[in-house]
Amino acid sequence: MQTVFSKIIAREVPAHIVYEDDDVIAFLDIIQATKGHTLVCLKEPFVDMMDTPDEKAARLFKVVNRLTKAVDQAFKPEGITVISNNRAGAGQTVFHVHIHIIPRYETDGVTIKVKNHVHETDPDAYHKRAEAIRKAL
Ligand code: AMP
Repeated sequence: MQTVFSKIIAREVPAHIVYEDDDVIAFLDIIQATKGHTLVCLKEPFVDMMDTPDEKAARLFKVVNRLTKAVDQAFKPEGITVISNNRAGAGQTVFHVHIHIIPRYETDGVTIKVKNHVHETDPDAYHKRAEAIRKAL
C-alpha cells in the first residue's frame, strides 16, 4: 500500500531522516509529541507487526534499540516510551509498519494509561489466555 512513509522513503515527501540502511529508515515524527519523537520504519511496506516476517522485525528492532540509545544521548530525557500501534483499533493511522520512540520529560503531556484488571481476572482465565497464545505460536 502506498503511504506517506513510502513517499518519504522515495524522497517524494521531505522528512528529517536520522538513519537509513538497506531495510530500515528513521525520521522525526512530524508531530513531535515530545522533543526528539522519532519513527523507525521498515522500507518494505508491511502493513503492521502482524504482517511483518520475524527476520524483518529483527532488523527493525535492532535499529530501534540503537536509535533509542541515540535519542537518550541526544536529549537526556527522563525516560523513553517505545510503542507501536497496530491496526486502526490500536490507533494506527499510517498503515506501514513503524515504531515510535518517544522521549519522556516531566510534564510532557503524554498519556499512555492501562487499567489494572488483576482483581477481576479469574485465575483460570490466565491459564486459558496463556494457552491460547502458546497454541498460536
Ligand atoms: P501511527 O498513528 O502510530 O500510525 O503513527 C503515524 C505517525 O506518522 C503519526 O505520529 C504522524 O504524526 C506521523 N506522520 C504522518 N505524516 C508524517 C510525515 N509526513 N512526516 C513525519 N511523520 C509523519
